[in-house]
This record gives sequence, C-alpha cells and structure tokens, in this order.
Amino acid sequence: METPPYTPGRILIPQARIAERVRELGRQISSDYAGSDLLAVGVLRGSVVFAADLLRALEPEIRVRVDFVRAGSYGDGTTSRGEVTVGETDHLVSAGGNVLIVDDVVDTGRTLRVLQEKFRAAGPRSLRTAALLDKQAPRTDDCPIDYIGFSIPDVFVVGYGLDYAQRYRHLPDIRVLEAGPGSNVKQR
Ligand code: 5GP
Ligand code: MG
Repeated sequence: METPPYTPGRILIPQARIAERVRELGRQISSDYAGSDLLAVGVLRGSVVFAADLLRALEPEIRVRVDFVRAGSYGDGTTSRGEVTVGETDHLVSAGGNVLIVDDVVDTGRTLRVLQEKFRAAGPRSLRTAALLDKQAPRTDDCPIDYIGFSIPDVFVVGYGLDYAQRYRHLPDIRVLEAGPGSNVKQR
C-alpha cells in the first residue's frame, strides 16, 4: 500500500479530556432543554462519534430525537474547496421543534452557515449549534455556536470522527495531522 502523505501525529486532545468535556456539554444542554422536545441533527460524517457520545450524555428525561444530515466542503485534502453541499433538511424540521445541529469542527464557518440558513428557512421553533471544535482560523462566515467543546489552534486534526481522506476517524484521541515520512507536502 502506498504511504499517505500525512499521518496522525501528536495528541492534541486525549480521549479522557474529550469524554469529560462531552459530559459537561451533555449536562448543560440537558438543563437548557429541560421539559422541551429536542431534535439533534448530526452532520455527517465527521460528527458521528461526537454525536453518539453527546446523546448518551443527555439526561434520560430529555425528549430527544436523532437524525443526520450530510454536509461537506472538503475533498480528500486538508483545505476547503469552498463550495458547500448540504443534504435535504426540510423534512427534519417539519414539526417546528427545537433543532440542535451537532457538528464536528468549525473552520471558516462556511459549512455551518449554509446549514444554519437551510434549517432556519424551514422554520424551527429554535435553532442552536453544538460544535466539538472551534478552530481559531480566519472565520469568513457568520455562524453562532451555542455549545463549544474545545477551541483549537489552526491545525488540521483527525480522530474521534474526523478524517483525512476518510481515514483515522476511529482514533480515540484527537491528533494533529503531520507530514508522513518521505513526504514533501507542507502542512498549511
Ligand atoms: P468550514 O466550512 O468551517 O471551513 O469547514 C468545516 C468542515 O471542514 C468541517 O465540518 C470538517 O468536515 C472540515 N474540517 C475543517 N477543519 C478540519 C480539520 O482540522 N480536520 C478535519 N478532519 N476536518 C476539518
Ligand atoms: Mg463537518
């Protein structure tokens, strides 16, 4: 098999810290939505691991439904292609309920802004966003984030659901992607 130009490097956020923070977010979201319905919509595919853990961190009393929407702006590289593709969202909000978008990482904000616009257009009672990672990168698009797991520097990360060319999603820690041996490709 060919050697990938990048490989997972140093641990940026170890799994124990992720677990602790996700529990905190779960408690906060549970208290904010106590007594009301909630539709949690995970953004495929990067948020599946975060969503799975966050859902189980919600109090059992929370009346939560779960769905997923596909969104993407990245190809197999580490920089945005600029265009954002988002799957259908209208059917998700037909009940006019409280929607919580569950996303993995906000970089330029473009993907999340497009998602939020689509959801808002469908007329939910309320719309909030939980993002595991908030990247300290130039934000080109306005997108309020209500629940943030971690703020991270402008590095490309993999693990805990996040991929590089569809790989490394299964890693339990969040790691910085680094140039692999023999690679002459520079990280941005
Ligand atoms: P944005 O539209 O905010 O620039 O990019 C958001 C999307 O790009 C994320 O949902 C994610 O799919 C991808 N992305 C941005 N930064 C990273 C990163 O550091 N690692 C990975 N694996 N994906 C990223
Ligand atoms: Mg994403």
